[in-house]
Order: sequence, then structure tokens, then C-alpha cells
Amino acid sequence: STFVGASFGGIAELYAQIQKAIGATERVFELLDETPEKINSTQNSHPVQKIKGEVSFKNVAFSYPSRKEMQVLKEVSFEAKFGQKIAIVGPSGAGKSTIASLLLRFYDIESGEILIDGKNIYDYDLENLRGNMSIVPQDVILFGGTIKENIAYGKPDATNEEIILAAKQANALLFIESFPEKFETMVGERGIKLSGGQRQRIAIARALLKNPSILILDEATSSLDSESEKLVQEALEILMEGRTSIIIAHRLSTIRSADQILVIDNGRVAETGKHQDLIILENGIYKNLSNLQFTHS
Ligand code: ATP
Repeated sequence: STFVGASFGGIAELYAQIQKAIGATERVFELLDETPEKINSTQNSHPVQKIKGEVSFKNVAFSYPSRKEMQVLKEVSFEAKFGQKIAIVGPSGAGKSTIASLLLRFYDIESGEILIDGKNIYDYDLENLRGNMSIVPQDVILFGGTIKENIAYGKPDATNEEIILAAKQANALLFIESFPEKFETMVGERGIKLSGGQRQRIAIARALLKNPSILILDEATSSLDSESEKLVQEALEILMEGRTSIIIAHRLSTIRSADQILVIDNGRVAETGKHQDLIILENGIYKNLSNLQFTHS
């Protein structure tokens, strides 16, 4: 899935940048070619004030600044209560990733409102807002550095014990400890190459350590080998506990366990409900999609 503008040498690279940016938002506007106008952020770091994590979109309309003539989202409304899992599904290009980008405040909306804990998203300090969110993307790109640095990114003052615990809960401890340098192992471009599933588990450990109120999860479309898949799934289950999760979902098991499914079609919420509500809609988009598209694991 594409997140924000892809003008920095590929989506994978951009994802890496975004992941870093979410840990340290001061860099984010260097990374984006289109800077939101409503910046309301102070530059100095202070402790993140925890939000509860209720998300509400009210008639949100949006078009990308570079393509004003094409409205990507039209009157998108939904509500995620604290701790809920919201699965976003829909055909390619429907606007799923765009919803996530707006939640992360990468762009300004055109009309409508996005509220977090009942307060307009643009009234938050940007750093504080993103300090309450983590993304686990489809394809995790780690930055050049040690495994420890990559995990600690979301919480630079984390203790060793905290880092080890996060790695353990993320099902990453065993493979990390199998390397001679363990947590000091260099990864990224000049380091060792981790598998897709291992990189995902590092990203999950990072998110666990950050302990966000809102989790944005972009599920992989292609499944990993089944052992790795199982380890990632277990870790994600732990990660989703006790926070609000907005999931761009491709896996039937995720979709089935979601509190709410949003079927996005052509920039609108075309259908909404739980799996058992949507699967029975005659000629429903969800019904068609689930026959064709979702991964059965
Ligand atoms: P997929 O499942 O393929 O990832 P999606 O549902 O996530 O698709 P989006 O990435 O949200 O879809 O894209 C919605 C529409 O917005 C598409 O028509 C896409 O071409 C367009 N779009 C996405 N990013 C940008 C951008 N940075 N600038 C201009 N248009 C964009």
C-alpha cells in the first residue's frame, strides 16, 4: 500500500523514513514534499501526554495537493472506540492508505473533521499526536544501526530490560540471541539481512516499547512462510491489546475478529459492519472481495 507521496526513491525507502519520522517527528517535514499548512507543533521535546485513543472521522473529504481535481476521499465517517480493532478493506486505489496518512496528519483534510478523543486532530501538538501512534507497515525497512537502536527508536530512554522484554513479547528474542553480537548486531543496508518476518517482529518490538494508544497496521498482502507467519501473528495479537488499532487488512482472520469493518470503495465507506453482517449482503462489495482477495490465514 502506498503511504503519502512517493517521490523519494520508492515506497520502501519512504516507509523507512516515515517509521523514523514517527519516532522523531522533527524530521518529518523534511521528508514530505507537501507540508501541511496547519502545523501547530512546538519544536522542543517534552514527555508525550497520553491520549486515550478514540478516533472519529466525520464527513472527511480529501484530495492530494498534487491532484486537486481528483477527490480521493468523499465524506468518510467512522468511529473507533478505545481498544477497538477497525479493519479497512477495499479494492486497490480505494483510499485505504490515505485514511491512515490523514490520521498521521501527513496532509490536511479538505472538509469534515478528524477527532481524537473528541478533540480536533489539528489542535494537537504534532509531536505529541504522533508520539501516541505507531505504524507497522507491510514491508519493514530497518535503518542502519544495531537491532537495539532499531527497537529503542520509539523510546530513546528505554532500559535494556525494557528492550529485551519488548523483543521477547514480539517473538524476536530467540533470533536476536542467535546472532553472535545479539542486540548489537548491525542491520540495515550495511548490516546483516533479516527476513521479512524478522523485520516485522523488530517493528513490533519497537511499537510495544513505544506503547502507543493508536496502532496503524498495514497487513502484508503476501504471506510469509507459515512458521514466520505464526510468530508475527502472535506478536501482533499482543501488540493490539489495550489500544485502538486501525488495520489495512488483508487477512481473513484479522477481518473476522475486527470490531468493525470499513469497506472503502472509490473514496467512500460503502459498507460497514462485522464480517457476519457484511458477508450476507447480496451483491455486496465485501462479499465479492472476500471471495477473491483475502488471505486465508
Ligand atoms: P492499495 O490497496 O493499492 O494500497 P489504497 O486503497 O490504499 O490502495 P490509496 O493509496 O489510499 O489507496 O490511494 C487512493 C488514491 O489516491 C489512488 O487513486 C492513488 O493513486 C491516489 N494517491 C495515493 N497517494 C497519492 C499521492 N501522494 N499523490 C497523489 N495521488 C495519490
